[in-house]
Amino acid sequence: MILLDIVSSTADINIYILIIAAVLILVIAGYFFWAFKRKTYKLINKHVNIDPVSGYGNFAQFTDNAEIMLKYKDLQYAIGVIDISNFKAINDFYGRVQGDRVLKSIADRIHDIVMPDGIFTRMFADRFVFMINFLDINSLTYIIETYFEDIEFEIEELNEIIRINCNCGIYVVEDYNEDVNMMIDKASIASKLSKRSISKMVTILDNNINFDITRKQKLTYKMSKALNNHEFVPYIQPKVNFRDGRIVGGEALVRWMSPDDGMIAPNDFIPLFEQNGFVNKIDFYMLERICSMIKKRSEWGRYTVPISVNQSRVHVYDSMYINKLINTFDKYGVSKNNIVFELTESAFTENTDDMIELIRRMAQLGYHISMDDFGCGYSSLNMLNLLPISELKLDKNFLADESEKSRYIIKSIVNLAHGLGISIVCEGVETSEQADFLMRIGCDIAQGYYYAKPMPMNEFEKLLDGDISLMR
Ligand code: C2E
Ligand code: MG
Ligand code: MG
Repeated sequence: MILLDIVSSTADINIYILIIAAVLILVIAGYFFWAFKRKTYKLINKHVNIDPVSGYGNFAQFTDNAEIMLKYKDLQYAIGVIDISNFKAINDFYGRVQGDRVLKSIADRIHDIVMPDGIFTRMFADRFVFMINFLDINSLTYIIETYFEDIEFEIEELNEIIRINCNCGIYVVEDYNEDVNMMIDKASIASKLSKRSISKMVTILDNNINFDITRKQKLTYKMSKALNNHEFVPYIQPKVNFRDGRIVGGEALVRWMSPDDGMIAPNDFIPLFEQNGFVNKIDFYMLERICSMIKKRSEWGRYTVPISVNQSRVHVYDSMYINKLINTFDKYGVSKNNIVFELTESAFTENTDDMIELIRRMAQLGYHISMDDFGCGYSSLNMLNLLPISELKLDKNFLADESEKSRYIIKSIVNLAHGLGISIVCEGVETSEQADFLMRIGCDIAQGYYYAKPMPMNEFEKLLDGDISLMR
């Protein structure tokens, strides 16, 4: 009996030992598994969060950390954008490997400036952004200038020293709840201003620029709704025949009638719309409004004249542009002789090949093209040779300048246009002296406040219906 008890208690002990051993094995295995997972996660995380070129944290990590820093609202922060002015040339000339080495050295310099009070990253290409807690903005500017002005970089393999120039834009954070990307945009705008300036390496965004950005944001926010609400209104300015003062055409000019801000002039929103692409919609909206007026007048048997519509240069990037033109003309059944497309001269000289191709296709299809603001850009004379242009509009600044030289240039351009069989319109005619001079040199058509200012469409139609001479 006693023997049996001893045997059974030994078996119990063995089972306990077995259980304890199993638990121990499980705990140890679990620990190793956890440690392995942690190491792998760290490795993956490192690769995900590290910019391979600079070797420092990437943009995602930067924005995460910036948001954390901005929670400490009693500190003052500056966001800075730094880019290398001549980086493309360095990359093209010395190759990508040297280019990457330059980027790494710039990253190291930024690291030296911002650590331990800030963070930084390379956003893309040669563009870096940093955020730093600072006490005195002048000292910060001074430090950046000393670190980044005229950097000498040695290319050992070639035994050569190259100079690197950087520019920097700084935005001092005011609203700590603002989106970090918005703050970076503001610093980027300041850095673009530095790029344009020869004397200033660092530009701090001031209230005026900030005001402009806020205004742009406001307009961008409102534009789509404004289009639906018909806040964009076509005005038309008559084009007048010099000899008898009769209206021979008109130019459609957009106005934004904002219920909050009153009438906004196109120069205050067209450049913005060219940047954000909305100009495509505006230009087609204007074209539709004009086509619809012409259709209505011809259905009612009323006299019509060709109307010019301004077309932005950005249409060159829209592969569907010509199709959209064809569809619009088909929709209203308007003849191509009723519309003239005005493209500003600079559009002809930028992006030349694509623009030449577009204008040629438009002309082949029978559309009429006018070169607007002729004389204010460069190298467009050759375009007259290359392109089938039906009208030249002489830039109004020529007329405003009353010097002998300017008068001589106008006369020569009028002769040139006539020689090439292109009709010429003089813009910005404001006085009887200017009108007399233009008439004497044989200019065909005038447009300007001296004859009539841009007016709402119905007023322009009344002028057409009255067959009134605008001769003074
Ligand atoms: P633009 O096409 O060169 O238009 C002529 C500008 O000169 C118009 O300014 C017109 O009001 C102004 N003007 C006419 N006569 C005189 C004058 O005697 N003296 C002076 N000082 N100015 C005169 P506006 O209407 O402010 O338009 C400015 C520019 O905005 C236009 O220049 C054109 O480039 C652009 N724009 C206007 N409407 C549109 C549009 O629907 N689409 C596009 N893409 N651009 C447009
Ligand atoms: Mg125009
Ligand atoms: Mg013009």
